[in-house]
Formats: sequence, C-alpha cells, structure tokens
Amino acid sequence: MRIRVFTLAMALGSIFPTLYSQDWRTPAEVSDYRTTPDYAETLRYLDRIVAAAPGQVKIEDFGRTGEGRDLKIVIASKDGVFDPGAIHASGRVILLVQNAIHAGEMDGKDSCLALLRDMVIAKSKAALLEHAVFVFIPAYNIDGHERRSPYNRINQNGPDIMGWRGNGTNLNLNRDYMKADTLEARAFLKLFHRWLPDLLRRRSCYRWCGLSIRCDLYHRRRSGCGAGDGEVDSRDGYSGVGAPGRCGGGM
Ligand SMILES: [Zn+2]
Repeated sequence: MRIRVFTLAMALGSIFPTLYSQDWRTPAEVSDYRTTPDYAETLRYLDRIVAAAPGQVKIEDFGRTGEGRDLKIVIASKDGVFDPGAIHASGRVILLVQNAIHAGEMDGKDSCLALLRDMVIAKSKAALLEHAVFVFIPAYNIDGHERRSPYNRINQNGPDIMGWRGNGTNLNLNRDYMKADTLEARAFLKLFHRWLPDLLRRRSCYRWCGLSIRCDLYHRRRSGCGAGDGEVDSRDGYSGVGAPGRCGGGM
C-alpha cells in the first residue's frame, strides 16, 4: 500500500507541474480580456518567462516612481546580449515600447506580455528577434496603474478595473518629457539616452489600439525608416487586445 501511495504521488507530481508550466496564457487572456493584471501579477508573469528563457529575457530596474515603486524594463534578445552598446555594435535594431503612460489604457502592456511569450516561449514570433532586440516598459506610470478602480475610465470599453491617468501626484507623465518634474520622467530620460533606441513606441493611446511604431526622429536615418511615421498594425496576431472598441480615450 505504501508503495502504491508513493507511486501515485510521484505520478501526480510529474503530471501537474508539467500541466501548469504549459499554461502560458497571460492574465488578460485567462479572463478573455475582461481584466488586466495589477503590477505584482504582471511581474509574476514576467518572472515566469525569465525563469523559462533566462538566455533570452532579462528584467532590469531603471529608477523609482514618486511613491517608491521600482521602474522596470524587459529586454528580449535572441542570444542573451543585453547591453545596449553591444547590441548597437551588432547592427541589430532596438525597439523600445513604453506602456501605461496613462495607466487606464492597458492594451499595450497586455499585448507586450503576449508578444514576449510568443517570441521566447511559443516561438511563433521568434523570427522578430532575428534582427532586432525588443525592450519594453511593462508599466511606466506604476503609481497610476495601482490606483485601480472600475470608474477611472467610464467611457472606455476596456478592462473591468483599470488604473488612473496621472501619476501619484496627478501629474500627466505624457506631458513631462521636457520639463521633467517627475521622478518617472527623469528616469525615462536616462533610460532613453542609455539605450538610444532605433524605434520608440510610446503606448499612451491609439484609436484602434493596435501596436503602432513611431520612428524616432533622431534615429530615423540610421534605422532606415521613411520620411513619415511608420505604423505596424498587430491586430491580426493580437486581436483580443486590438479589437476596435477595446479601449478609447484621448491623448
Ligand atoms: Zn492616453
């Protein structure tokens, strides 16, 4: 009898961790996009990806918010080269995506989690890393992100509960890049100059809620982009996030 119990326990132990590890749905996907995860749950999901693909994904701090939360970037690189200087020297393009500037607009964060998963776990988007390195800020306005309420954006067809537009002191981070009153903006400016991305996508709002990519003026010539803004619509691959009407709101 003791042997049978032991055998059963071994069998269960070998089955359930495997099943669990195979469920790579993002928190938003699990709820069919009715919810968006808070910052702690967002980081738990990202930590799972790092643990599963440590040679391709790294998370770094780049400062703190006004309320003392750690600002983080996620770096996805096919060969584990995570230093911006070495990446530039390799000739690969650096894409920087900045999500949740207005933290009630959460499609950028949730789509980046799914895209990262598809790049390094599912591998269906692995080819995107062949000539580029994907760097993203899961949530820039974390203090606003954690001020969650169902009433923060009542005109938005988005998640049931979402964050707030301003930061912890109600300053609009999307208006602070030049005056840099906030700790978040100062940390971002340092991050930008450290990485000097070829492409920058500031994910505040976009009427169709697909991922669009704006060629940074400074690096437009280097990256080979055309004279105007380049927009890459990802709605085909991430329709749950990008379906028209998922979210709204003005800039
Ligand atoms: Zn906005």
